Amino acid sequence: MSAPPPLSPGRVWAHVGQPFAPSPYDVAVVGAGRMGAAAALFLRQRAPALRVLLVEEGGLPNEEGATILAPGVWSRLGLDPALHPAADWTRAALQALGDVGWESRPLVTLHAGAAPGRVPTLEALAPWPDSLALVDPAALPWAELDRDAATYRPGHAALHAAQAAIRAGADLLLNTRAAPQPGGRLCLERLTVTNTHQIVTHETLTVPARAVVLAAGAGGPGWPNARWACTPATPAPTARPRTSRCPARRRARSCARGLTLRPQHGAYTLIPPLHGRDPHGYQPAGGQLTGVPTGLRRETLEDLVALMDALPVLATDALHLGRSLADVPGAWLALPGGRPEGLPTFEVLDEHTWLLLGGPQADTLGLHAAQGLAEAVAAALA
Ligand code: ADP
Repeated sequence: MSAPPPLSPGRVWAHVGQPFAPSPYDVAVVGAGRMGAAAALFLRQRAPALRVLLVEEGGLPNEEGATILAPGVWSRLGLDPALHPAADWTRAALQALGDVGWESRPLVTLHAGAAPGRVPTLEALAPWPDSLALVDPAALPWAELDRDAATYRPGHAALHAAQAAIRAGADLLLNTRAAPQPGGRLCLERLTVTNTHQIVTHETLTVPARAVVLAAGAGGPGWPNARWACTPATPAPTARPRTSRCPARRRARSCARGLTLRPQHGAYTLIPPLHGRDPHGYQPAGGQLTGVPTGLRRETLEDLVALMDALPVLATDALHLGRSLADVPGAWLALPGGRPEGLPTFEVLDEHTWLLLGGPQADTLGLHAAQGLAEAVAAALA
């Protein structure tokens, strides 16, 4: 039997100086984080006949998002044993991508109480006597140890996956913000930066896509529900000027402008203002990403952190907001099912649209979910 012909590589549009003539795609993947990049690669590997377009709002890897900010810890600790094969598959797939900075590092969690699988802390830490100076084994006498755990760089994984996807024939459009339109179309805003450092829309295009995969992380809770109109835009700033940090409480009213506290069920619901970076027509939907509650979106958190001095209630421990975005869990992560322990998942949103979410377990299981999505999309389009 003769070998199949080599796949011709896909094309890359990195900046608006490279003209992009929209042509129909079978699958458009929105977001080239580790989830989206891996999904594009697995789609091309699984179904080489499918024309695949990967669209990323920023660069590769992007400077924001879960992929860059994730700790990159692969571990079976705390995983249901039924998920161990998926974790092992992900481990092999990550290492097959190339140099992702994979480093074997045993991982220990310490506990106050005994439970199945836990061993005495002193016993678990015996191979690393220096670490005993850091903990009080009397306070946390029980430990769980994963000798197979490892750290790696999720940004490298996204980069290698996207490069492999291109080699396998996927096209990549960078610096382009995408939004699904009804009827299997994707609206593309190609972005550029002015010499005053403002991000502006250079051109707005539409591409037909039989399936759109939303792998945008926490990039936009609610926006797939509020598909915005795709009209050729006159270049306009897409980022509003940042309001300065509020120096004193007496300025609370002006600083809190747009922020509404609504009494509800004996507590308060905090309704953030419309954000300048929201797509036209987007209404904040209380942290819902197509029905999946998410962590707060980053733009909203930036507003809240700036309001903390004005509204001390925002800075209480109970709200887990922290003083900088780096302290805030969920600033960059969509939580599958709204649960911190939610597993990477994909779901069908409508006949043309799929959602792929990594969440907190993406380091250990994310690529397996991306592979599952690729199988499901390829089967649906066959
Ligand atoms: P994950 O771990 O799920 O891959 P990330 O947050 O790392 O999550 O990746 C999501 C990517 O999606 C980011 O690189 C972000 O820039 C990109 N993104 C978010 N919204 C859009 C959009 N509307 N169009 C194109 N790319 C987007």
